[in-house]
Amino acid sequence: MPVFLKDLQESYDVIIIGSGLGGLTTANRLAYCGHKVLLLEHHHRLGGLATWFKRRGHIFDISLHGFPYGMVKTCKKYWNKEIMQSIVQLPNIVFNNPQFNLKTTFNKEDFTHLLQTRFGVEASTIKKFFDTVTSMNFYDDQSMTTRELFEEFFPCRSDIHRLLMEPITYANGSTLDDPAITYGIVFSNFMNKGVYTFSGGTDKLIGMMEKELEKNGVTICTKAKVNKILIEKGKVCGVSVDGTTIKATAVVSNSGITNTIFNLTESHHYSDEFLTKAKAVRVNNSSCQVYMGIKKGETIEDVGDLLFTSTADEFDSEELLDLHTKSKTFSIYYPKTRPGHDRYTIVASMNSRYSDWAELTKEQYLAEKESLIDRSIKDLEKYIPGVTEKIDWVEAATPKTFNTYTLHTRGTSFGTKFEGLDVSRSIHKQVGGLFHVGSVGIIMSGWLGAINYGVIVSNDVDSYLRA
Ligand SMILES: Cc1cc2nc3c(=O)[nH]c(=O)nc-3n(C[C@H](O)[C@H](O)[C@H](O)COP(=O)(O)OP(=O)(O)OC[C@H]3O[C@@H](n4cnc5c(N)ncnc54)[C@H](O)[C@@H]3O)c2cc1C
Repeated sequence: MPVFLKDLQESYDVIIIGSGLGGLTTANRLAYCGHKVLLLEHHHRLGGLATWFKRRGHIFDISLHGFPYGMVKTCKKYWNKEIMQSIVQLPNIVFNNPQFNLKTTFNKEDFTHLLQTRFGVEASTIKKFFDTVTSMNFYDDQSMTTRELFEEFFPCRSDIHRLLMEPITYANGSTLDDPAITYGIVFSNFMNKGVYTFSGGTDKLIGMMEKELEKNGVTICTKAKVNKILIEKGKVCGVSVDGTTIKATAVVSNSGITNTIFNLTESHHYSDEFLTKAKAVRVNNSSCQVYMGIKKGETIEDVGDLLFTSTADEFDSEELLDLHTKSKTFSIYYPKTRPGHDRYTIVASMNSRYSDWAELTKEQYLAEKESLIDRSIKDLEKYIPGVTEKIDWVEAATPKTFNTYTLHTRGTSFGTKFEGLDVSRSIHKQVGGLFHVGSVGIIMSGWLGAINYGVIVSNDVDSYLRA
């Protein structure tokens, strides 16, 4: 059970600011290694973007749309076997757009088959493409863009570019102009075995993680917003929460990297060179979502698990971000998603720009939200005729909602662009004992990326504390 601020001890070995999947994993690993860990979260529940909410008997998941198979190994090794055992495949991934309509298991075998039979690509080209993307790693040349990669293998084939790119843009906000390795790493992760989900929902996962944290001795304190990271003589010495100082030898911030540098610490602690790099970090886009709950007792047919839909002629990252985008994904949560809970819910997700929403007046904001809801239901009717009559709860989240709940700069859903990774990895060289974990550089975002990054950072912190 989370403890209150007033019941905390005076000092800890390490304080983790934020309980996103990266923060939770770092906390768990460090406690497992025997360190005295305090986890501070500003929200009333753990999980960060890996969260859920309840309305009239419905449970809505925010970011449980799909992750790669790699989660199985990661959860088994760094969390526990029970968590691993709840990971199940989403076998029916649907694409529907003016260029093609198809259903796929979203793995290498099926994509090879589709590219050959539906898109008429030579087997040798497909093999070369897969060999190239699977051999990509972080230390490779970063100058090639994803657009150039696609043009090299599938010149002038906007339909194939769409098949390969659209899901990845939804999965991490990357565009055709980002470095090809950020595409290659994430795409090959999915192509390994397809798309997976957590049976039982985000609430079950975070509940299981909370139990594991408690077992390992992490002190958890929610509704605790850190206002400042305290630094003395070039080293962290604690944090300040609502005027209360808590001491620590190391601090790991799971707040966004831009927040960590520009809001939680003061600039004079960093070198000019580092600050220049940090100021150049671009945050990724945000999202809009429409949550729809189906009346108790009503059912819907199986139309697929994850539907990538669009009425735009071609794929275009800018079109995906438009306030009135014609592209959206529908995640359909059948009762099998939450065994024992007999309700259906549907979430429509769109990529979105914070500025488009933040600049609206209150009236315009509410009107745009209504229009977003109307468009989503209308589009959903195409796949589930008559669904309008079956919906008994609907509401929308915008980039402002994501900003409110996670405090992320411009409500970013997927952290930062590529350059954020270097800044995140080197912050401890500027301020002794200060580390960052969380979505950066595209490849460290998403459920798998955030958890894996948590493991990497916990190793850094463990070495620091032991030294
Ligand atoms: C709409 C949407 C859909 C997504 N869908 C998927 C998906 O299908 N699959 C997938 O793999 N990924 C998905 N993602 C991305 C994924 O959810 C995130 O990349 C991942 O959960 C981020 O983890 P994180 O460790 O970076 O922390 P975050 O989840 O960003 O959490 C950071 C935490 O820090 C806390 N915090 C910040 N500042 C402070 C402070 N000063 N004091 C105390 N606490 C603080 C916040 O409250 C928050 O809890 C989606 C994201 C969004 C927005």
